[in-house]
Amino acid sequence: MKFAPVALAALAVSLAAPAHAQEAAQAMDETQPAAEQYPMTPEGAAQWVAMVEKDLFDYSVDASRVYWVNATYITDDTDALAAQVGAEGTEKSVEYALEAAKYAQIDGLGPDVARKLDILRNGLVLPAPTTPGAATELNEIATSLNSQYGKGKGTLNGQEISGSDIEAEMGNLEHTPEEFAEMWESWHDNVGAPMKGEYARMVEIANEGATELGFDNVGAMWRSGYDMSPEEFTAMTDRLWEETKPLYQALHTYVRWKLNEKYGDAVQPADGPIRADLLGNMWAQEWGNIYPLVAPEGSGDLGYDIGELLEAQGKKPLDMVKTGEGFYSSLGFEALPQTFWDRSLFTKPADREVVCHASAWDVDNVDDIRIKMCIKVNADDFVTIHHELGHNYYQRAYNEQPYLYLNGANDGFHEAIGDFVALSITPEYLVQINLLQRDQVPGADKDIGLLLRQAMDKVAFLPFGLLVDKWRWGVFDGSITPDTYNQAWVDLKREYQGITPPVKRPADAFDPGAKYHIPGNTPYMRYFLARILQFQFYQAACEQAGWTGPLHRCSFYGNKEVGQNLNAMLEMGASKPWPEALEAFTGTREMSAKPMLEYFAPLKDWLDEQNEGKPTGW
Ligand SMILES: [Zn+2]
Repeated sequence: MKFAPVALAALAVSLAAPAHAQEAAQAMDETQPAAEQYPMTPEGAAQWVAMVEKDLFDYSVDASRVYWVNATYITDDTDALAAQVGAEGTEKSVEYALEAAKYAQIDGLGPDVARKLDILRNGLVLPAPTTPGAATELNEIATSLNSQYGKGKGTLNGQEISGSDIEAEMGNLEHTPEEFAEMWESWHDNVGAPMKGEYARMVEIANEGATELGFDNVGAMWRSGYDMSPEEFTAMTDRLWEETKPLYQALHTYVRWKLNEKYGDAVQPADGPIRADLLGNMWAQEWGNIYPLVAPEGSGDLGYDIGELLEAQGKKPLDMVKTGEGFYSSLGFEALPQTFWDRSLFTKPADREVVCHASAWDVDNVDDIRIKMCIKVNADDFVTIHHELGHNYYQRAYNEQPYLYLNGANDGFHEAIGDFVALSITPEYLVQINLLQRDQVPGADKDIGLLLRQAMDKVAFLPFGLLVDKWRWGVFDGSITPDTYNQAWVDLKREYQGITPPVKRPADAFDPGAKYHIPGNTPYMRYFLARILQFQFYQAACEQAGWTGPLHRCSFYGNKEVGQNLNAMLEMGASKPWPEALEAFTGTREMSAKPMLEYFAPLKDWLDEQNEGKPTGW
């Protein structure tokens, strides 16, 4: 799934946090002080980094096994083991980040050593300062916020309803606007508001930690992981948003009109911002759930359903995975190892609790790659399999790299690979794998429906993907204070998304807390980057395959040249600045939204026609 495999990208770095921290430290003390063993010289730094890489490599393999067992066999015992491994890992990360910050100041470091020290220094999402008690307090707050979110409840018709149920109900078009508003308001009030004080304290502590590591604040630290200055990174993301804004605005105009048509002026006025609870999603971040409300007449229905096609051929979950593997094999990638088939979790076991959220794993950092899914025979899971396998092939491609480079070129790349491959599940591809008959391929008249369905998720997401961290960057740099936390969030949502809350927000509201990634402290800009990058990868592949038709219809299935070029990027891992990786596959060093715009160009023309004479903007 799109947001599930967060764990994946974080694997190399956050699992970088070790288990045997204490053992290692003790062993060192007994022989000689670290400073003597690894002196503050370029040579000493290189040796220290080598020691750390070895330690983290070993730790990550042990930790992955524990996490795997926990995720595929949830019991009190495996929960306890996972918590223990996690705590040990955090301890190691902190220790190594602080040491790395010292070594980073040595003159004359080799480029690889310097790069690896930066990765270590940056390897924590929330750095604790060395002040006695600070790490414990920070950890307690982070755990508390996470668990408050997990236990969060809203209401529907006065009845309590869990987080996962309320998420699903927000996408259920049978509810009335009053019910949507009730769910939205109760969720934001119950979950967000109580977190505000703890969140503010957490920001304070983590900022002190970031300062100790040599960063201005936590936000600047997060922006330092992109091979450019924090200021350059902000400018790049702003530029990408400016490029895509006209497309988003056209979609916003069209959807607002359709909502006005359905609900009337009293619920959704014909101009101004869109009411946040009417878009099929608690955060209005993806709008695919309300596609039936906006589907173009006559072309809304594609004429086939992948799930039904699979059923008709008697395909089972394992066959779907084989088909996904076949896509990569057709590009020239080596078949998946036997251990993948032996050790993956493909379907929900009948006799125990598992985490069904789809994810991709690399347990031994070499080729013990696996997926964990509860596959159902339907279109969504068919797409998700292609996506998850993208992570696995990326992991295996860079497995010759040193430990600290076992990662995507930046944190947007890993998600973008899976999504880019998933974009290739076009009707043409379905014909090539004998799932669809040539005469069942929908005509060009269906293209608008297909593109609009994609845009409701992928285009609608862009401003949200951007503003979550714009808000946090402001919080961490002090331009947004606890007094203005909520107003700033509401303002950003209005400015970028053109969205407004369905009800007036009380003075003590903390709406950001009602979005998982805020209490969960997961940086968000990676998702924005991935949305843009996947279309760059897709366009590059289609060009290399000699595709001349409209971009959204392209399939590069079976093209070995594309596979070779793709592999050239994947095998680099995080060893080089990301522009070099991007160049290896696409020939350009710049991120650009132009391929995304080209993909959606026919839709943009169609939206402009529909929108003629209608109010636009908010
Ligand atoms: Zn993913």
